[in-house]
Amino acid sequence: MFEIEFESPKTEPCDCCDNSATRLTRFVFKDGEPFGVYYVLFTHGHTEKIASAYISVGNWDEEATPEMRSAFPIYITQDGDDWAFEFVTSSDSKWGDIELLGPVPADDAADASPLKADALVVAELMMQEDKMLLAYFS
Ligand SMILES: [Zn+2]
Repeated sequence: MFEIEFESPKTEPCDCCDNSATRLTRFVFKDGEPFGVYYVLFTHGHTEKIASAYISVGNWDEEATPEMRSAFPIYITQDGDDWAFEFVTSSDSKWGDIELLGPVPADDAADASPLKADALVVAELMMQEDKMLLAYFS
């Protein structure tokens, strides 16, 4: 059983245009235990709708350090009735590096990491439950 804790959104001017960009911070729990954290950034009014997400999974216990988790920057786009999740590097991500969320594994390591499957679970969950993100794409 997954639950998402929703923080208030933050808005700011987009770094490429005059439109308003929104940043979301979410905490994900599985059966009441911390499972992951994700950030999402999107700009209203862009011709191509892309949400730049940064998903962190692994150990989110209170005493855990960032090295005990992995971060997966992804681009989310709509592909017909489906969602497309493209894994990108932190330098390609709008977010850059976020130390708190943990290191981003290199491509090969990411594919071998069991945490990548957890990141996909979070990605699917956000596209079912995160109304602000869904509203952006609607
Ligand atoms: Zn822009």
